[in-house]
Amino acid sequence: MICPQGKIMLVGIGPGSHDHMTHRARAAIAEADVVVGYVTYIKLVADLLEGKEVVRKGMTEELDRAVHALASAREGKKVALISSGDAGVYGMAGPTYEVLFQAGWTPESDVEVEVVPGASAINACAALVGAPLTHDFCSISLSDLLTPWPVIARRLDAVAAADFVVALYNPKSGRRTQQIVEAQRLFLRHRRPDTPVAVVKSAYRRRERIEFTTLDKMSDCDIGMLTTVLIGNSNTFIRHGLMVTPRGYANKYELHGDGSTRQGERPGRSLSTGLLGWMENLKADHAEGESIAALALLHKLPADYIEAVLLTQTEEVAVKEEAASVEESET
Ligand code: SAH
Repeated sequence: MICPQGKIMLVGIGPGSHDHMTHRARAAIAEADVVVGYVTYIKLVADLLEGKEVVRKGMTEELDRAVHALASAREGKKVALISSGDAGVYGMAGPTYEVLFQAGWTPESDVEVEVVPGASAINACAALVGAPLTHDFCSISLSDLLTPWPVIARRLDAVAAADFVVALYNPKSGRRTQQIVEAQRLFLRHRRPDTPVAVVKSAYRRRERIEFTTLDKMSDCDIGMLTTVLIGNSNTFIRHGLMVTPRGYANKYELHGDGSTRQGERPGRSLSTGLLGWMENLKADHAEGESIAALALLHKLPADYIEAVLLTQTEEVAVKEEAASVEESET
């Protein structure tokens, strides 16, 4: 097929094994005239490269790769820029769009761009250790090559305090060894020393290795460039070699016995401590004399937020929610 215009495909190839690459990623590489990527990733898809122009780049040539891709696409070629995991997660998608915008590119112009999603390291590592991401999570890269340390440290501090499950990308390299120690120090200010931690190296690759530990021992583990560190939240546990973060069913249902709803809770509705229930209780507590400052302290929320909530007309919201759930249950 003749390609009237060039195309850049930002292809996430997943954690490393062929089985965990998507059909679209495979097809995108297959239809490309030019394949650009780190030496390691090029090796991972070596069997798909016959007859193609292959551009192997080193670690620090990211912008180069994007510029090269644009130049080839402008010649009418289809270019696959390959990233491990997902191309948009600490990958090439961002820098490529930046280079394109710099060059005056727009989505309507000569070169088409497609981002092909892939399973990121966080997904791959989570799957290998059990189900650690079943509640709110986030990722933080410890790489300070492009991000100032105070920015990284503030984010670590904030998510540690907010009890997220956290995936640490780029936790350590030959040169960057202290960052993981600092991350541990910040986390220990908010989290229990026995918080479960999984250290996953080379997920779905040849030297795959999984180590379970606890927050206080995290930085002593064997951690490198190809490691992702998963830190649990305050409810995460490890059982039979599996790391699990509860979704919260136990807050509403009796997990042992007949699975009935716990007292005061209703199936399909917000928890009694969900938004509306909580607002009602807050108003009642305030009416009984609890100060805004005391309520703010109790719920670990800003006083001006508590104040705004106390002024919200919850009755109206409650009526709407009730009407909507009647509608839902009838359809
Ligand atoms: N785009 C990639 C991330 C690139 S940043 C993705 O979506 O996964 C590089 C970091 O990703 C590594 O330092 C490591 O923390 C993590 N990583 C990538 N592949 C991995 C693998 N197979 N096993 C464990 N961690 C991995």
